[in-house]
Amino acid sequence: MQTMSLNHINPIQWQQILADAVSDPAMLLERLQLPANMLDSMIAAHDSFSLRVPEPYLQRITPGDVNDPLLLQVLPQPQEQLEVKGYVTDPLDERSSNQQQGLIHKYRGRVLLIVSGGCAINCRYCFRRHFPYGDNQLGGAQWQQLLDYLKQDNSIQEVIFSGGDPLATTDQRLASMVSDLEEIPHLKRLRLHTRLPVVIPQRVTPELTQLLQNSRLQTVVVTHINHPQELDDSLIAALKELRNATDQLLNQSVLLKGINDQGEILCQLSEALFDAGVLPYYLHLLDPVAGASHFKISETTAKNLVGQMCDSLPGYLVPKLVKELAGATAKVPIMPILKNNGQSIS
Ligand code: SF4
Repeated sequence: MQTMSLNHINPIQWQQILADAVSDPAMLLERLQLPANMLDSMIAAHDSFSLRVPEPYLQRITPGDVNDPLLLQVLPQPQEQLEVKGYVTDPLDERSSNQQQGLIHKYRGRVLLIVSGGCAINCRYCFRRHFPYGDNQLGGAQWQQLLDYLKQDNSIQEVIFSGGDPLATTDQRLASMVSDLEEIPHLKRLRLHTRLPVVIPQRVTPELTQLLQNSRLQTVVVTHINHPQELDDSLIAALKELRNATDQLLNQSVLLKGINDQGEILCQLSEALFDAGVLPYYLHLLDPVAGASHFKISETTAKNLVGQMCDSLPGYLVPKLVKELAGATAKVPIMPILKNNGQSIS
C-alpha cells in the first residue's frame, strides 16, 4: 500500500485538528450523509458523554452507512442509557488504586500516570468514560509529589503514560516530564498508551519521535486500533515513524459487537498492523462500564474468534485474549478454543 511522509506537516497542525473535532451530533449526521431523524436518538447519550470525532477519523467513515464499524465506535446511541446489572462507572475499581492525584498503582513494578484527561476522540465503549479526570490533574505540586512517590519505591521500573490520552498534551510538557523521570535511576522503561496518532496521524511530530528516540529510558508505544478500516495511508505513515523511534510498537484492541466480532476482520487487522510495523499485543474483552453493554461479546464467542485467528495466522500475529478484573494483580489471559482440539468453533 502506498504511504506518505509526515515530515512536511507543521507540528502545530495536530492541535488545530484536535480543536476542530466534530462535537455537534447534527453536524456529524450532515457530514456523513446520515438521516437527520437519527438526531433525537443521539441526544441523551451525547449529553452524558459528548460526541467527539476529529476530521482525519471522520474521513475514514463511509458516508451513508449507518453500520460503518468506525461510526459505531463514536456514535451516541440510546442503548447507552440502559441500566444493566453488572455495568458500573468504575469497572476496574481504579479508584481504590488511585493513591495520589494522577497516579494509579495496581500492578507490581509499574505505575500508570494520568498525564491528560483529554482525548481526541470519545469512544463510546471507553472504560474510563466516567473517570474523575477533574480530580486527577497533574499540576506542578502534584507532579513533585508523584516524583517523590516514584523515587521512594525502587521496585517501580516502568512508568505508563495514560489518560485520557497522554499525547493530548504538548511535546514540550512531555519532554519536561520525561526529563524528570530519566533522573530516577531505577526507572527503566516508559510506556505510552495512546489512540491519538490513530485518529490524528499528524500527532506524530518530529519533536515527539526525537523525544522517544533520545530518551535513556526504553520506550514502548501501545496504540489502540480496533478495525482494519482505521489503517489508512496517513496512519500507516505515522506508525512507521513511531516504529523507527521506539523500542517496541504494539497494539491493543477491544472486542466490540457489530464492529470487529468476526474472525476474518480480526485476521485482516493483524495483517494490516504487521504491515505497518506494529505487533498485535492484546485483544481485550469489553470492561463492564455503564453505558457500553450493547458492545458486549460473550467470552465463549471471543475464545472461538481467537481460535479462528490461531488457525489462520502465525502465532506472533495472534494477540493475547485478556480480560481485566478489579483487584487482580495482572490482566487475566483467556485461552482460545482451537478447532484441532476437537471443540466446536461454530
Ligand atoms: S481514546 Fe482511549 S481513553 Fe480516550 S475515549 Fe477512547 S478509549 Fe477512552
